[in-house]
Amino acid sequence: MLDPKPAWTQQAACKAESLDIFFPNRYTENTVQKPFALCQDCPVRIDCLHEAITTSSVGIWGGTTDYQRFKILDTYFNNNPKNFKLSDSQEAIEKNIYSIPVSSKYLI
Ligand code: SF4
Repeated sequence: MLDPKPAWTQQAACKAESLDIFFPNRYTENTVQKPFALCQDCPVRIDCLHEAITTSSVGIWGGTTDYQRFKILDTYFNNNPKNFKLSDSQEAIEKNIYSIPVSSKYLI
């Protein structure tokens, strides 16, 4: 799931995990449980969420599904990835300000 180029990926909690769990066929409370648990304690979650939103990535990144990231962008950032700053990623995670269902499927 991760592009190995950004330096922060070297600290990723999922570095040694199978990427399959970050791309489930459907998003359910069950299928997101393991990747979300990894993301919860990941030291680079802020960078990861920011990267995912600003690059419109699919799959689970930064403890969010692509559906959740779409809703964050659409609701709070005028659906423009350029409006989402690293500080927004930090605030989103620290304050858990977005409470959005994981959705039952991929958006795209
Ligand atoms: S936040 Fe999650 S998806 Fe992102 S690097 Fe960490 S463990 Fe991997």
